Amino acid sequence: MQPDIRQSLNEADHQLNDLFAVKQLPFVREGRVKESAERWAVVCEDLEELQTRMLAKRSMVGNSRVVIRIGADGGGGFFKIYLSVLDPSAHSTASGRKSESSRFLDTGVNRAILIGIAGGTQENFVNLRSLWHSFRLPYLPSNCTIACDLKVANLLIGLMSHSSAHPCTWCNADKNCLHDRDQPRTFGRLFESCQAFQASGGRREQAKYYDNVVHSSLLAVPADFVVLQVIPPPELHLLTGVTLTLCQGLQREWAECHEWLDACGVQRDEYHGGSFTGNASCRLLRSTDQLRSMCPLAGLPFAAAFCAFDRVVQSCFGCQLLPEFANALLEFRDRYLDLAISATPKVHAVFYHVGDFCSRRGTGLGVWSEQSTGSLHRDFVEHWERYTVPEDHPTYSDRLLAVVCSYDDRHL
Ligand SMILES: [Zn+2]
Repeated sequence: MQPDIRQSLNEADHQLNDLFAVKQLPFVREGRVKESAERWAVVCEDLEELQTRMLAKRSMVGNSRVVIRIGADGGGGFFKIYLSVLDPSAHSTASGRKSESSRFLDTGVNRAILIGIAGGTQENFVNLRSLWHSFRLPYLPSNCTIACDLKVANLLIGLMSHSSAHPCTWCNADKNCLHDRDQPRTFGRLFESCQAFQASGGRREQAKYYDNVVHSSLLAVPADFVVLQVIPPPELHLLTGVTLTLCQGLQREWAECHEWLDACGVQRDEYHGGSFTGNASCRLLRSTDQLRSMCPLAGLPFAAAFCAFDRVVQSCFGCQLLPEFANALLEFRDRYLDLAISATPKVHAVFYHVGDFCSRRGTGLGVWSEQSTGSLHRDFVEHWERYTVPEDHPTYSDRLLAVVCSYDDRHL
């Protein structure tokens, strides 16, 4: 190891260094040509011990309510997997809602520890599997949930993308009938469908006959578990996705709807691929009176749908679950179905899976949210800037290990 890197490591507290290793793992880049290559990754080699130290550090030893949250995110040039431990009851009883400015910022309460990271890797199934299997996690603990966006959710359980014939993570709904629900997906059924798909020859064009399950699930959990037990609906992506769908529908009825966006001070966020940020989405949802006063008659049903979605967000997208959440979800479904637009997988998830999850857990989605991913990414990139060298530099692997150990020491 280079002396300067060793010094950087010595500056840290050495609380977790013994649990991490840097190794080469097989990754692929998919494009016109599929390229395979070994790349450097840093992984935690003892998740059980890491969890023990996190609980001790946070005075949570013996707390039977503790849940483990594993997050996965492939954006921003690094595939990252991270671990949090939290007591949901401490969050769900927290008073009041956060202010708009802090609504989608990590509070620091859910401090996440990086447990696996690889740079320059695409977000695809092979790369996720490579990183995931490096933990040698024999089974997922029963108190564990996964925080990720919908794309990673489908990768984790071996499903094709959200443009496939059965796009829903949580049920077998057909893509042309997303205004309705189908049988819940269980891990046993995922296994059977995958076996049948592979026995049939594994041709992806035939996958629609096998619920679009094309890989074995990476999550080792009992066969009778439904996916909703392990993967919560991701609140931030549902908030921004549904808001965007409503805006696109509104634009078809009212070409000048950008006037409303301008009046709300909202711009499409180019970083997020033309979508809105969480805070911009909230601002639009709270400006429906303004929309009503500006739009033509054809825009009014959209104003009603925005308003109904805002009540959904208020009642179950925070940490607290408000008693009116079930009625709010039904009202939103009715108002959305009044519009002549189809239901997307995200709209479908709000129709059918958000309420089921919140009823089951007795909390809002915020407790289980993937939203800390964004702040974790920004935080990590700032950290990495102090260490960064090109991937082919002789000290790259040492630096990647050093930055993870330093980052995790500060977040323990
Ligand atoms: Zn579904």
